[in-house]
Amino acid sequence: MSSNLRGNWNYPTTIWAGPGRIAELPEACAKAGILRPLIVTDEGLAKAPMISSARAALENSAVFSAVRGNPASSHVEAGLEAYHAGHHDGVVAFGGGSALDAGKVVAFMSGQSRPLWDFEDIGDWWTRADPKGIAPVVAVPTTAGTGSEVGRAGVILNEETHQKKIIFHPLMMPRIVISDPELTVGLPRAVTAATGIDAFVHCFEAFCAPGFHPLADGVALEGMRLIHRYLPRACANGKDIEARAQMLAAASMGATAFQKGLGGVHAIAHPVGSWFNTHHGLTNAIILPYVVRFNRAAIAEKTDVITRVLDLPVRGFDGFVQWLLDWRRELEIPHSLAEIGVHLDNSSVIGHEASIDPSAGGNPVPVTPAQFEHIFRAAVLGQLDTIEPHS
Ligand SMILES: [Zn+2]
Repeated sequence: MSSNLRGNWNYPTTIWAGPGRIAELPEACAKAGILRPLIVTDEGLAKAPMISSARAALENSAVFSAVRGNPASSHVEAGLEAYHAGHHDGVVAFGGGSALDAGKVVAFMSGQSRPLWDFEDIGDWWTRADPKGIAPVVAVPTTAGTGSEVGRAGVILNEETHQKKIIFHPLMMPRIVISDPELTVGLPRAVTAATGIDAFVHCFEAFCAPGFHPLADGVALEGMRLIHRYLPRACANGKDIEARAQMLAAASMGATAFQKGLGGVHAIAHPVGSWFNTHHGLTNAIILPYVVRFNRAAIAEKTDVITRVLDLPVRGFDGFVQWLLDWRRELEIPHSLAEIGVHLDNSSVIGHEASIDPSAGGNPVPVTPAQFEHIFRAAVLGQLDTIEPHS
């Protein structure tokens, strides 16, 4: 067992990692220049002792907790109202991906005069923002999955169009991250598994994305190795601090790596989450093998590398897929989207929206809307064999 799980890292931002480091939250706020923090968290965490402790430790703080899974623009607007009403000067974003994304977007929007959708991650739209109007963020992840704590974007649902939009600005990167594994010990097994596989998918899709980015590839490979090794341990025993610490690091590594790009799994998971309000990590965990099979020809060499780094019993593409299916079953991830309430009614809409999702551009091979629809339908029905690998 590794005896030292503490570290101060400076890429991609300042990260204070280690058990018990939440005690340094007041220092983190001071360093980030936040005197009147708004603590943004979700409804589920609002009553947790870690939130009342944070509130007590931070002078002049208030809590905004009206954030749900798949946060929408209405949550951001309510957060902004609380932010301005309390004359806050920064955000402590506390929670899983939804709360972190909402908190980051509230801080970003706090000093902007243009509407939220003007800052969607398209071309150079981020240059429309006034950088002086972006408030600092201290991020405290309580799940090991999204890696939003080291991301420069927030995913927000447009309730009118039912589309998830990525709001991006380089300065949305939190100033300081407190990565304390003790905050994740209470996560139920199912959430640990779903969020952990999301982190794996970030590493996997980044590694398989085309483009020259050896820095991201290296981070992604080590992230996959850590998740392969420690996610089953974190699921078996939620109090395993070493496994929790390694998973938190791997989650941050996934989001660091996916600056290179994501791929077809996320392209489908985004519209599925928008239409069916499914859990993001769980959705990705179910979809992953369907997209892997479709991408077969383009990722044969890369899956060979992954099976060697993970030291899997059978090397190469087939060994990877076999391991993936077994691993998913062990972690009690369903095999079909139907099992989490997704149906086929608007499958052509899902196919179209997946094809225009920003993640689609990172898929190793181009995917047409009809092909996305086909992969989605196979995933709903649990019919992996019906997917013809792209040649
Ligand atoms: Zn994800």
